[in-house]
Amino acid sequence: MVTTPQEPVYVIGAGPGGLAVAATLRARGVRAVVLERSDAVGASWRGHYDRLRLHTTRRLSALPGLRIPRSYGRWVARADVVRYLETYTETHELDVVTGVEVHRIDPGEDGGWVLHATGGRRLTGRAVVVATGFNHTPRVPSWPGRDTYAGELVHAREYRNPERYAGKDVLVVGIGNTGAEIAADLAGGGAARVRIAVRTVPHIVRRTTAGWASQRNGILMRRLPARLVDLLGTGMNRLAVPDLSAHGLPRPDTGLATRARAGAIPVQDVGLIDAVKAGTVEVVAAVESFDGDEVVLADGSRIAPDAVIAATGYRRGLEPLLGHLDALDERGRPVASGARSPRHAPGLYFIGFSNPISGMLREMALDAERIARRIARTR
Ligand SMILES: Cc1cc2nc3c(=O)[nH]c(=O)nc-3n(C[C@H](O)[C@H](O)[C@H](O)COP(=O)(O)OP(=O)(O)OC[C@H]3O[C@@H](n4cnc5c(N)ncnc54)[C@H](O)[C@@H]3O)c2cc1C
Repeated sequence: MVTTPQEPVYVIGAGPGGLAVAATLRARGVRAVVLERSDAVGASWRGHYDRLRLHTTRRLSALPGLRIPRSYGRWVARADVVRYLETYTETHELDVVTGVEVHRIDPGEDGGWVLHATGGRRLTGRAVVVATGFNHTPRVPSWPGRDTYAGELVHAREYRNPERYAGKDVLVVGIGNTGAEIAADLAGGGAARVRIAVRTVPHIVRRTTAGWASQRNGILMRRLPARLVDLLGTGMNRLAVPDLSAHGLPRPDTGLATRARAGAIPVQDVGLIDAVKAGTVEVVAAVESFDGDEVVLADGSRIAPDAVIAATGYRRGLEPLLGHLDALDERGRPVASGARSPRHAPGLYFIGFSNPISGMLREMALDAERIARRIARTR
């Protein structure tokens, strides 16, 4: 197989990352085809819980070549993110093929790439951009006793709203942004009791302080040394966030930037602080195991909630697709990002596989331009 300029660039995934790359490629006259396994663009955003809003500002979350309408407000609601992605696809006249899942990527014979996809499709492209999402495969730890647990256990991806938990005793496991928000949502939405199991105390930041979005701090901080940011972060945190030690949430002993670089971004407060202070969300120790209908916590206590929601993150899920290409590190993340391809896989690009404190949408918008520039140059 010899690749020709007519061969398209294939983009796998029609979330914000994939759509942004397709639009920036098109703007440079490069034919891009987006392959999406679900039946519409923005599948992840269609499936998120109802009350979700962007915690990054409207202006700093727009993708290349289209502003997010002012009427959507500063903190854009989930449904409006979906609307924006639909409009984005139409405005840039993107070529999106839905209902096509790519199962495996292989090198072509003379450069280029072969994609194996739904229905036995074999597609050849001169370059491939993987945009299948950081939050790809729900991850629930293999706690001892998990599979024989008699209670209800779901991953946060299945959570929509508090309705079905009204009057129930619920344990949320994990205090990342999702766990924190679901716990606050349940507490305000009629659950009888809400507990949140915490393994590592998070950095909690206000979404804004005196009108200044914390995302802007994240952007400024990206260029500063981690030790300085840790120091600044601690100072600002003491001013903006009350001491919750008495409620089981002491201030963390490692700095904000050090944590962020290890992959743990701070929790934006959208109700958790007030709920913890009011006692409507109780902080408990990490989950250690399950035993019959009980949950055993790290401090040895046992509780028997009606339902457990595991806000325990996601895996990238890239192994079946490209685990054989020497392109992933030991955590299953791509070894290259932006305009760079892995050394042994030229022409293979990745977007959306980091979780920066400056906002992922913003970083994907920047990376999309970098990738498109590189691909257009190697025509
Ligand atoms: C709850 C939540 C809130 C967030 N809030 C913000 C925020 O406020 N600001 C911000 O900047 N970021 C936020 N993020 C992070 C990030 O911006 C979003 O996750 C964003 O959707 C990532 O875009 P993406 O295109 O990389 O991945 P996704 O949106 O997950 O899109 C990936 C697409 O690829 C498709 N796909 C996957 N595998 C295949 C395959 N093999 N073949 C074909 N198609 C495939 C999926 O169906 C999906 O449509 C949030 C994330 C979460 C989970």
